[in-house]
Amino acid sequence: RKKMRKKIVAGNWKMNMNLQEGIALAKELNETLTAEKPNCDVVICTPFIHLASIAAFLNQDVIGLGAENCADKASGAYTGEVSAEMVKSTGAQYVILGHSERRGYYGETPEILKEKVLLALKNGLKVIFCIGESLEEREANKQNDVVKAELEGSVFNLTAEEFKNVIIAYEPIWAIGTGKTATAEQAEEIHAFIRSAVAGKYGNDVAEETSILYGGSCKASNAPELFAKPDIDGGLIGGASLKAADFKGIIDAWK
Ligand code: PGA
Repeated sequence: RKKMRKKIVAGNWKMNMNLQEGIALAKELNETLTAEKPNCDVVICTPFIHLASIAAFLNQDVIGLGAENCADKASGAYTGEVSAEMVKSTGAQYVILGHSERRGYYGETPEILKEKVLLALKNGLKVIFCIGESLEEREANKQNDVVKAELEGSVFNLTAEEFKNVIIAYEPIWAIGTGKTATAEQAEEIHAFIRSAVAGKYGNDVAEETSILYGGSCKASNAPELFAKPDIDGGLIGGASLKAADFKGIIDAWK
């Protein structure tokens, strides 16, 4: 059943790595994974300024490339913004949208994210759409309502055809960068709920084909247990994507 959908390990570099460091890391991953093909799709999402330089040498049959954000406007007088079309023109194929750091620190609302998702898809990017509850919401047992509302607010307006280019990343905010991972059971429970919400909206076939990644202190030591769960199709990796050996350790969880 799980074989029907893509298994994915995606790195989210966040605001780390200057250009030279980023190129060096991407080169190292490119060599390692070209020599030893991974058993899953691998993606690295980097700061905007790295994209074109990395796209120039990256073997995108083995490692996909993505941005961490894009603008909610197509083009024009929006100083400092980077459009989905610009991202695509670098050679990148993916974009992370809705990360809790963007929602929390940069005021990205469901409406803004809805625009970003539409523009990304219109420009042929695959979207890694992040959802997840805060610690308070988890303690109040509201996690299911929160993730469902996040889906309804920004991606459930899409057609089923459009939704096929969306990858969901469940990232409980209390687990991001804290060293505190959701247990594999906790993660599986909500991943199954997310898949049922997708099935409710788009039907079982689309739900079975949707990759749902776990993110939040995922590392080589806990990835095998998480990825073994039926509704966990891989990971979105922050801290552990910044060293080739750490990231490779997580990719190897699919062996
Ligand atoms: P982390 O970040 O792996 O450092 O917890 C994950 C993410 O925020 O995407």
